[in-house]
Amino acid sequence: MALERTLSIIKPDAVAKNLIGAIYNRFESAGLRIVAAKMMHLSKEQAEGFYAEHKERPFFGALVEFMTSGPIVVQVLEGEDAVRKNRDIMGATNPAEALAGTLRADYAETIDENAVHGSDAVESAAREIAYFFSDEEICPRTR
Ligand code: GDP
Ligand code: MG
Repeated sequence: MALERTLSIIKPDAVAKNLIGAIYNRFESAGLRIVAAKMMHLSKEQAEGFYAEHKERPFFGALVEFMTSGPIVVQVLEGEDAVRKNRDIMGATNPAEALAGTLRADYAETIDENAVHGSDAVESAAREIAYFFSDEEICPRTR
């Protein structure tokens, strides 16, 4: 296994439900380190740019509207196998299909408001991390 970084977002529904700490606890309990973090309220342009790969999908407008509906918390998670590990912690895109004990099973009700985002591959993680963070904003552990 390789040391990886992945981009994670606590989406507006989960921030509104006061779940930031509970979700951070899941990451840290699984051995993932938070090496960069910020709270943001995305503009329409920022949300459209982040989800550009879904531009042609029928739910794109609803997705952008949801992602701009309130503040989010964006973080870089670092650890062994971090991309897959975070996807395992998150659970399936549709909370109805997410395994028990995953974030989406526990904290999301619908596929359109599903609590968290996580990069789906090492390549997309690099692109998504660079979308939100400069190199100087990433703080690897020194102790
Ligand atoms: P993810 O990688 O598990 O987040 O899933 P995708 O990359 O396939 O989709 C991105 C996001 O678009 C999902 O997390 C959902 O918030 C939203 N989404 C995906 N499929 C649907 C859908 O069928 N309807 C709606 N309203 N939103 C969807
Ligand atoms: Mg995705």
